[in-house]
Amino acid sequence: MDFELSQEQKEMVATVRAVTQERIKPRAMKYLDGTFPWENLKDLADIGITGMAIPEEYGGLGLSVLDTALVVEEVAKGCYTTAMSLMPQLGVQTRILAQYAPEDIKRRTFDGVIRGEYVLSVCMTEPHAGTDVAAIRTNAEIKDDRVVINGTKTLISKVDEAQLFVVFTRVNKVPGREGIGCVLIERDTPGMMRTGRFHTMGGEYLYEVSFENVEVPLENLVIKGDGLKKLMNAFNTQRCLNPSISLGLAEGAFEESVNYCRDRTAFNRPIGNFQGMRWKLAEMYRDIEVGRSMLYRAAASANPYPNPQLAALAKMYCNEMAIRVTSEAIQVHGGYGFTDEYPVSRFYRGARYGTLGGGTTETLKELVGKKIMADFPHDGFLGTGMF
Ligand SMILES: Cc1cc2nc3c(=O)[nH]c(=O)nc-3n(C[C@H](O)[C@H](O)[C@H](O)COP(=O)(O)OP(=O)(O)OC[C@H]3O[C@@H](n4cnc5c(N)ncnc54)[C@H](O)[C@@H]3O)c2cc1C
Repeated sequence: MDFELSQEQKEMVATVRAVTQERIKPRAMKYLDGTFPWENLKDLADIGITGMAIPEEYGGLGLSVLDTALVVEEVAKGCYTTAMSLMPQLGVQTRILAQYAPEDIKRRTFDGVIRGEYVLSVCMTEPHAGTDVAAIRTNAEIKDDRVVINGTKTLISKVDEAQLFVVFTRVNKVPGREGIGCVLIERDTPGMMRTGRFHTMGGEYLYEVSFENVEVPLENLVIKGDGLKKLMNAFNTQRCLNPSISLGLAEGAFEESVNYCRDRTAFNRPIGNFQGMRWKLAEMYRDIEVGRSMLYRAAASANPYPNPQLAALAKMYCNEMAIRVTSEAIQVHGGYGFTDEYPVSRFYRGARYGTLGGGTTETLKELVGKKIMADFPHDGFLGTGMF
């Protein structure tokens, strides 16, 4: 078993760390009002990051899920909003596009993404259907060589910024899981409207977007039905990136806490000299290390998509771990931890997102629990514990 990253991975992480610490982290406060971090995407594009999940034939780097997870972790140590803004470029949208989109849309979109000028939005959640994806009502009706889309999506990220929307719909009103497909809708297509906007505790906006007789060419209907399995496969990638944000936020909060324990004095000594503080650091560090091992293992299992159980376990653990660790970081900082003077309150607000997006903790427990009941070996754990 080899726990070492490759030389290339170490160099990539060091480059991203330098850009994050020097440029991205100092700007982080200004995105709390919902401003989109375009300048940070540009900085990351300049070192090739926005194209790292795009196949080489389209000008990207075609790197692995583990590579993307390492980068997202590093960026999250500086800025939650910027790490979130990288999700579409490195996650489910890009992978669906690479696999299913028409050639001209791929070329156009990937060029913009690689330059850090385009982001993509994925629209799945609806007002009455979040976790229960198979209950979505937005419908794509095939009419000769066109598709007409009607419906409403909500809690959607990047609606004001995205150039392309990857929209999960029902196709021809076919009910249930069999009826789920996916259509690509370009920005400003007539009939598409932003109908709501919610400011979040993480800083970014989420949106409601409605489609009223939106027409696109038939070739934009990239999954014509029975798409739930394809969607869920691609989502296992997201289930390694979402916990990378959690891990990075926990690590960022931990780094701040160590510095604070060394610098802050009480009773004429650094607070890190008190066992109460040292034990907090030890527990935070322990939890981060567990999360990192689980996440890297899940990401490294990708072929091309990560093992669903490992991804679910890593996501569940890292999401909850980050809430705990960032909360402890605030405790270490005392009253200042609750202010905007130190980044730990920002890390905490961002960490709260993890258990909600990309499959809630409860849903993932169900997924893993069902698998255990069905397949856990009767003679107990074997080797690596995977089954
Ligand atoms: C920051 C952020 C960004 C997001 N960006 C996007 C985006 O870009 N595109 C998009 O499509 N969506 C996006 N979402 C929405 C997100 O995917 C949904 O919030 C999520 O799928 C949960 O759906 P819901 O909010 O409707 O909750 P519900 O499904 O209504 O769930 C409510 C509660 O019930 C629990 N629950 C539901 N079913 C079960 C069950 N079977 N067993 C046990 N418990 C259950 C859930 O775990 C949860 O705790 C985003 C959300 C956030 C917070």
